[in-house]
Formats: sequence, structure tokens, C-alpha cells
Amino acid sequence: MKTLLIIDVQNDFLGGGSLEVPGSNVIVPVINQIQDSFDLVVATQDWHPEDHKSFASNQPGKKPFETIMLHGLSQTLWPDHCIQGSRGAELHQTLNTGRIAAIFRKGMDPEIDSYSAFFDNNHQLSTGLGGYLKEKGAMEIHFPGVAADICVYYSILDSILEGFTAVLVEDATKPLYTEKFDEMKCELVKLGVKITTSSQIISQNE
Ligand SMILES: [Zn+2]
Repeated sequence: MKTLLIIDVQNDFLGGGSLEVPGSNVIVPVINQIQDSFDLVVATQDWHPEDHKSFASNQPGKKPFETIMLHGLSQTLWPDHCIQGSRGAELHQTLNTGRIAAIFRKGMDPEIDSYSAFFDNNHQLSTGLGGYLKEKGAMEIHFPGVAADICVYYSILDSILEGFTAVLVEDATKPLYTEKFDEMKCELVKLGVKITTSSQIISQNE
């Protein structure tokens, strides 16, 4: 079961969004091109209530991108983004959604952030995605989406913990911070993560 897990391709993370990942709009047509090479396509959405504690606007005197301690965890404060039911939280209108079998939402608890598609940042609460993918017979998961150095990165780490093989689709993802992501990529390779491109995926499928 070749599986594609599209991470957070939502308006707020793409061009013009409140938490825009630089240059990220180019990844959407790439993700559309590769979807047909997979048996199972699943997507995630960051899906916060308005009072989410990761928003700087909910932390008096704090500004976006400052760091605080939140329930014992270091938490970067973000601009308001991906508020439940808002336009910013919708999957980007140019993303083909016809083949997406399920959408898993995360970040709904106002007290804790959830970068990974599998667990909250405290690793306490599962989204159920790991169980779903196992039941579907997924073994190897390909990862496109945003942000490469945050939600894609933590989702890949948890997918390994859950026993899956992870493949990063390099030209179908963009980081918020490029330099940080270059280091992370080295770390992921050491952990056994494969790195591929859309053209390799398409040519293997021919
Ligand atoms: Zn978020």
C-alpha cells in the first residue's frame, strides 16, 4: 500500500497566509502530479481553536516567534493561523483533493501544540493516524507538505517510532527556516529516512 501523507497544505501556510512558508506555493502542483502514484492518499490539517495557547495573541505582552514555556514544554509563539473553520485553515484551493481518503486534524487542544500528524507535542494524545495507516496496510509513507522543518519533520520522526518507513519528497516540501532544515535532513538520513523527488516517484511508477 503505497501511501502519501500530505502535511498541512493549508492557505495560512502558503502564499499570502498568516504563517506563510516562503516559496511554498510551488509544492502544490508537485503534490498533485505525484498523487496518482500512490494507492492511499491522506492529508492533515492544523486545526486550532481561537484561544490556542500557541498563538502570541493569546499570551499577553508576547510577540509572534518568541518562545515561552507552556506546561513544561518550550513553545514557539505563532501568528494566529489555521483557526477551525476559517478560510486560512482550508486546504489550498489548487490542491487536488479527489483522491484524499481521510483528513486527520491536529492542534485542537488549546493547551498544547501538535506539530506531528501522529501525536501532540507532549506525546500524550494520539490522533489515531498510526492505527488508521496500519489498518490500511501502509508500511512506507511518503511525506510532502509544510513546513518541512516543523510539522513534516516531527511527523516523520513519529512515523518511524510507529514502525513505518519514511520517505521525504524533497521537491514537494518547503521549510520555514532553510538552514535549520538542511541540518534536519542530515539527521533524518541517519535515522534511515529516504529522500526522493517527484520525478523519481513518477518514473518508478511508469
Ligand atoms: Zn499550528
